[in-house]
Amino acid sequence: MGKITGFLEFDRKVEEYTPVTERVKHYKEFTLPMKEQELKDQGARCMDCGIPFCHSGCPLGNLIPDFNDAVYRGKWEKAAEILHATNNFPEFTGRLCPAPCEEACVLGINENPVSIENIEKNIAETAFNKGWVTANPPTKRTGKTVAVIGSGPAGLAAAQQLNRAGHLVTVFERDEKVGGLLRYGIPDFKLEKHIIDRRVAILREEGIVFRTGTHVGKDILATEIKDEFDALVLTGGATVRRELPIEGANLKGVVQAMDFLKQNNKRVDGVKELGKEIKATGKDVIVIGGGDTGSDCIGTSFRHGATSVSNFEILGKPTLERPSDQPWPFWPMRLRTSSSHKEGVERFFSISTKRFIGDSDGNLTGLITSEVEWIKEPGKRPQLIEIPDTEKEWKCELALLALGFTGTEMTIADQLGIKADMRTNIKASEADYMTNIPGVFVAGDQRRGQSLIVWAISEGRQAAYHVDTFLMGSSNLPLKGEGDLPRI
Ligand SMILES: Cc1cc2nc3c(=O)[nH]c(=O)nc-3n(C[C@H](O)[C@H](O)[C@H](O)COP(=O)(O)OP(=O)(O)OC[C@H]3O[C@@H](n4cnc5c(N)ncnc54)[C@H](O)[C@@H]3O)c2cc1C
Ligand code: SF4
Repeated sequence: MGKITGFLEFDRKVEEYTPVTERVKHYKEFTLPMKEQELKDQGARCMDCGIPFCHSGCPLGNLIPDFNDAVYRGKWEKAAEILHATNNFPEFTGRLCPAPCEEACVLGINENPVSIENIEKNIAETAFNKGWVTANPPTKRTGKTVAVIGSGPAGLAAAQQLNRAGHLVTVFERDEKVGGLLRYGIPDFKLEKHIIDRRVAILREEGIVFRTGTHVGKDILATEIKDEFDALVLTGGATVRRELPIEGANLKGVVQAMDFLKQNNKRVDGVKELGKEIKATGKDVIVIGGGDTGSDCIGTSFRHGATSVSNFEILGKPTLERPSDQPWPFWPMRLRTSSSHKEGVERFFSISTKRFIGDSDGNLTGLITSEVEWIKEPGKRPQLIEIPDTEKEWKCELALLALGFTGTEMTIADQLGIKADMRTNIKASEADYMTNIPGVFVAGDQRRGQSLIVWAISEGRQAAYHVDTFLMGSSNLPLKGEGDLPRI
């Protein structure tokens, strides 16, 4: 398994980026490829630790030491089979996953962990380049029909698994193109959209039907779909954005991050009718919210040619090191710096936006903040207090609200009589992913709330197993971490 002395011989290496001055001129991905020998050396760093905690760190249960070993030995096709056995879309996770597996890597206890995500991306790309990823339609059809509502990573994973089980799957999507947040949230510089198209072409060839531009609940009632199909999988995401209801929030220039990002992704895709233009060009931009969405707004603003970009986060600045109360192998809350952060943003922590200010025409001209402090007392939730006399005015013509999502839209749930939990996520347990309505299942952000691509794929796969069991009485589809080796 790997090279016994590999971790002593080779340092961690991942793909480097092209210089900032170059990459902000375009929307293409900007990583520099590694040589095959370098990738093999990285695979060799996997140290045969005995109990691979990375498996449990990965929500898919990816068979990480096995594909690392195959890469070390130059057996790329085998590596691709191992990877696809547990992950329908490693080309997405290999680019975009925050890699909780690496935080759980045994080598990571006192060394830099194995560069698992980067290896994963290179296995996936090698497999596509060599033509190993091809359509694999089922040999038999069951005659059962399944509707999947929402074409993000959860919906796509559920659809592929259910199609593999022989069911006829139709995916309903209200947007013009398939992909969910992969398509209209995440910018092209993190994921070029032909990467989605190439995968969707395979899914179509396998027999999955896509009905785009169809808003379930509006264009067609959810009850009609329920009557037409033998089972339903809801994978509509957590789309209700968190607002910032403070003075001046209606000013022109206070914009929800998703409006900004979606419009830009459509612009990059060549769409002409975009509605009212939202651009950062020549503006002082403040991105409020320090997560992935905020980071994507930062990179996009630089590509628009913003004068300056600042980023506010209400939470305190995390440490670079793993906090002592979040020990290995758990996912630690530590300071993460994305490629967009490295493009020149100024980041501010423990800062709260109190009000927006504007001119007589209703245009945003600035905002007022206060510094805040989080008081932690044992057994109590942390309390936010404002530090007196810390008010500050900032010049700003575009404020992007990247404050996360509060839950799911309830139209479909209301039409079907489905129950939501207190956070307005659709209620279904991990035991079977079924809602209170028999035959209606839910997966991804719509069940667990705003989360990650890797979790969406994982939930789509798990839900598919339970849908198949519901339809057929039992299922041969793999559950988490169980391989299904012959299929790429
Ligand atoms: C800007 C941004 C950047 C992100 N970056 C990362 C990242 O780098 N790494 C990472 O792991 N995660 C990232 N995430 C989170 C990740 O994208 C989500 O967790 C993931 O996409 C959830 O997948 P999903 O399939 O559950 O839902 P979604 O991807 O949200 O897909 C839901 C789909 O359902 C459709 N839909 C909803 N309602 C209906 C309806 N009534 N009828 C028809 N269609 C409907 C929607 O149009 C959408 O296409 C990011 C999120 C955002 C917003
Ligand atoms: S999907 Fe994410 S967590 Fe799983 S192995 Fe890949 S990078 Fe690691």
